[in-house]
Amino acid sequence: MQRTDVETGATQVGMEAPPTFPCSICGEPATRICVWCTKDACDNHICGKCHRCSDCCECELIRVSPEQSS
Ligand SMILES: [Zn+2]
Ligand SMILES: [Zn+2]
Ligand SMILES: [Zn+2]
Repeated sequence: MQRTDVETGATQVGMEAPPTFPCSICGEPATRICVWCTKDACDNHICGKCHRCSDCCECELIRVSPEQSS
């Protein structure tokens, strides 16, 4: 049986992920940067209104907290 020579030098290119920084909060590939602290944050941890990360965003602080009747 004749077997063809297997290509030893397989080309492994095109699978490298782009140089992205991990989210400073969850560690996922960050797609944006906080405009306040310039930290890397993923799309889930960046505010679409103020473009700040969850640590700097003050939009969530404005939200009314439900009164806890004890
Ligand atoms: Zn994140
Ligand atoms: Zn921030
Ligand atoms: Zn915000």
